[in-house]
Amino acid sequence: MEKNSNEEGELKVRHPEKINRPDNPIQRKPDWIRVKAPNSPEYLETKELMRGLKLHTVCEEAACPNIGECWKQKHATFMIMGATCTRACAFCNVATGKPNALDPHEPDNVATAVKTMKLHHVVITSVDRDDLADGGADHFVKVISAIRSSTPSTTIEILTPDFMKKDGAVDHVAHAKPDVFNHNLETVPRLYPTIRPGARYFTSLSLLKRVKEVDPSIFTKSGLMVGLGETREEVGQVMDDLRAADVDFLTIGQYLQPTPKHAAVDRFVTPEEFESYATLARGKGFLLVSSSPLTRSSHHAGDDFRKLRLARQASLKHAAE
Ligand code: SF4
Repeated sequence: MEKNSNEEGELKVRHPEKINRPDNPIQRKPDWIRVKAPNSPEYLETKELMRGLKLHTVCEEAACPNIGECWKQKHATFMIMGATCTRACAFCNVATGKPNALDPHEPDNVATAVKTMKLHHVVITSVDRDDLADGGADHFVKVISAIRSSTPSTTIEILTPDFMKKDGAVDHVAHAKPDVFNHNLETVPRLYPTIRPGARYFTSLSLLKRVKEVDPSIFTKSGLMVGLGETREEVGQVMDDLRAADVDFLTIGQYLQPTPKHAAVDRFVTPEEFESYATLARGKGFLLVSSSPLTRSSHHAGDDFRKLRLARQASLKHAAE
């Protein structure tokens, strides 16, 4: 079983809750999912910067296949509130267990990294912190505010947990006015008990709806992994649910199994099927859709943010005519 050092340098099993599960052999990836090994100078620089500032990235912790491409372009997604998650989703490679206390210097350290990397658009995500009274909402607000003070022109996208319905948490974060508020549904409701057992589908949908109620100017975004056993009809229903919650941007990507202890890939969805999902989603009225085997929530997030803005302007213009 995979081990790594925790924040105190002890060697720990990454997923203790999965230790007694039978192995699911990892299937060979099809030709359309080939990525280059990360070895550019920019990759190494980004890694050094993160370690120097004691920061974590979801790119590394989730073993994202796009890390070579993204970090070459100095695009990394910060993962705040530590590297240990209080949930134990069947698809996710982030280590699980009892997390440490929050680092009060983290908001300033993230802001320093954003400034050093000269980021025009930054994506901030976090582990689930169900142990905290507000689920970590106030820490998100502190990070947003530190970046706003340090680099006011940087646009901010957050990808949050569901805050476990903690009272007022979503409103508190939405009032901090991130430019994009992302919360992933991850899969279709039928698969929640096995894939996302600690979460509830309608809690996640309500979170997205609530963000728009608090501030309709914030772009909302959500993502789905496919290849877990969902049907096309189920994916279409999730799209309808997201549109009913007024979500602007949908991302769809292939689920990849991080270790033999994680959920097995049911099948590799073909690039043509991804294109067909994109067509279906556009027809349902999303402002923007990204659907491809290697699409991830934060992949090309800066470019997509520019497209989102343009799409909103075009739609407002169209409505006024
Ligand atoms: S797609 Fe997102 S998580 Fe993956 S490497 Fe790029 S920025 Fe990081």
